[in-house]
Amino acid sequence: MKHILLKISGEVFNTEKASSKGGAFSVNKDLIKNIAKQIKSLQKNYNIGIVIGGGNLFRGTTNGKQFSLTPNTSHQIGMLSTIINGTILKDLFEKEKIQTEHLTSIVCPQITKIINTENITQSLNEKKCIIFSGGTGNPYFTTDTTAVLRALQIGSTLVLKATKVDGIYDKDPIKNKNAKLIKKISFSDFIKKDLQVMDLTAITLAKQNNIKIKVFNLFENNSIVKAIKENNFGSTIN
Ligand code: UDP
Repeated sequence: MKHILLKISGEVFNTEKASSKGGAFSVNKDLIKNIAKQIKSLQKNYNIGIVIGGGNLFRGTTNGKQFSLTPNTSHQIGMLSTIINGTILKDLFEKEKIQTEHLTSIVCPQITKIINTENITQSLNEKKCIIFSGGTGNPYFTTDTTAVLRALQIGSTLVLKATKVDGIYDKDPIKNKNAKLIKKISFSDFIKKDLQVMDLTAITLAKQNNIKIKVFNLFENNSIVKAIKENNFGSTIN
């Protein structure tokens, strides 16, 4: 069975209304239901791991500065945010009858099991969808880097990065109307152009380990399935 790693940013969790109000917390239940439906159909042929972000709740860099917190503390709060999102996701997935295991890099046994080889292997053998939270467990990293790391741990050669836009652009498409979509790009060109869609630590780790990255619009119909099955859907870095 093939293994796939899906990265979902915390931001896509929020409903449009809440995110435009800035910081208001909400859960986009319809979107999660839709993701669950796709995961369920994919589980017949794929083992799925999901790395969940926390940007809808707290970002170590920006929110930390806002509250004058030291960087170490800020990133800890960011990592805790991903555990909150992971806990929500597991609950809603189970309501959709998806066998789910929430594993985290930060010890909190009352809530989840820790990420280690034994727990990963057991969940994969049981064909459970694994939700990875807590990021890498270390400050100064992102959940994008975590996604590449967890892809390596579950034996996936593909990271699917779910976003709100159609793929990789030469400029931020939300701020620039004339931003151009790039369908395919090599790791070296991505680094040279200093594109912002993924941080360079994630890109370097993927390049070193031959992990292909696909960036796609989660809000397109059946997007996760298309990202796996259709070569031309979204943008590819490899
Ligand atoms: N974070 C961290 N170490 C990690 C992963 C995440 O310290 O390995 C912190 C970091 O402060 C980040 C926050 O958690 O801003 C939320 O993660 P991220 O910004 O990657 O979430 P996303 O944008 O994907 O929702």
